[in-house]
Amino acid sequence: MKLDTVLTSSLSTAAPFGAPHVKGRAFRLRAHLIARVIVVLLPPRAFGGAAAWIAYGGFRAAADARLVDTARALAGGLDTLFACHEPGLLPVTGSAGNGGPGNIPCAGVSYEAGAALAAQTGRRIRLFVEGIFEDRHAENLLTTVAGQGEELLVLSAHIDGHDLAYSAIDNASGLACALTVIEAIRDIVPGLTRGVQVGLFNIEEWALLGSAVHLAQMAPAERAKRVLNVNLDSLAGAEGITALTSGVPGMVEFLHTALAPAGMSVGISAPFMGNSDHANYLRHGIPALRLCTGFDRPQSNMRFLLTPADTPDKVHPHQLKLAASIAALLVLAGCASPAAPVPRLDEASAQRITA
Ligand SMILES: [Zn+2]
Repeated sequence: MKLDTVLTSSLSTAAPFGAPHVKGRAFRLRAHLIARVIVVLLPPRAFGGAAAWIAYGGFRAAADARLVDTARALAGGLDTLFACHEPGLLPVTGSAGNGGPGNIPCAGVSYEAGAALAAQTGRRIRLFVEGIFEDRHAENLLTTVAGQGEELLVLSAHIDGHDLAYSAIDNASGLACALTVIEAIRDIVPGLTRGVQVGLFNIEEWALLGSAVHLAQMAPAERAKRVLNVNLDSLAGAEGITALTSGVPGMVEFLHTALAPAGMSVGISAPFMGNSDHANYLRHGIPALRLCTGFDRPQSNMRFLLTPADTPDKVHPHQLKLAASIAALLVLAGCASPAAPVPRLDEASAQRITA
């Protein structure tokens, strides 16, 4: 799409591009972008359109990421503007790179703003985007309930969200489930083979940085103690739970073994999606899965992810209870099994799966 007349668009509510709170990057960015702009109207995807370009970690992933590759190709390295698929003056937010060389400047705008810009096809527009890169301190919150042996199962959920939204679904729902599960089982775990480490990770929304740093700084012998990561991200807002298994050998069997005796099951999605903290565990060879809801249900409330409409009214208590029950069963089964619940990945397998 070529836009070659000047249009000054009010984008005061649009998310600035880049990663504004990454330690080590401290500069003020005030970009006047005068260029051809690609307006990408996001179609509803697996988790709802608004999430599609963000949930996969920015440019690289574009798993759905063909969106980004397409934009990159069309833009020739110029600016990209992502518009929410959902009418209602809802700008989309998320991570779209770290502002480094090679990143395409990017902004999220509402469906209406996208439509208005798209109507300017063939004209030049002038897009003002302002953002600030500055040092911020962020903490992961970790606690461990020891089991009989040294091995641990990691129950994780990210605690950060974007400031235009309540982030009720993404990820207050996962956080609530993680806290509920560990509260319910903390007196049971000490009698089991393995303990539980609860990892409440920060800066997930910016390239999974919190869990990446946590695992990178961990001694290899400590990483070796972690046998499985059950990652809870966006567990309410739709009916039913899906496990993103990344095709890890033995994971589907483990899920069945853990859930079937209670008459429960989850949907399975096997392709690797590096859209939450489980991806970092997989990169270190630690079997990991993400539980989520709304998969392949684009009309569910998941379509409001990463917009100002991700509010508590989209979350229903029965959805939270189902998610917490499933998570508890998986954690208990993983802690109780005599052998590792899922075989560890060798380096080549981990690289292949997360490539
Ligand atoms: Zn999330």
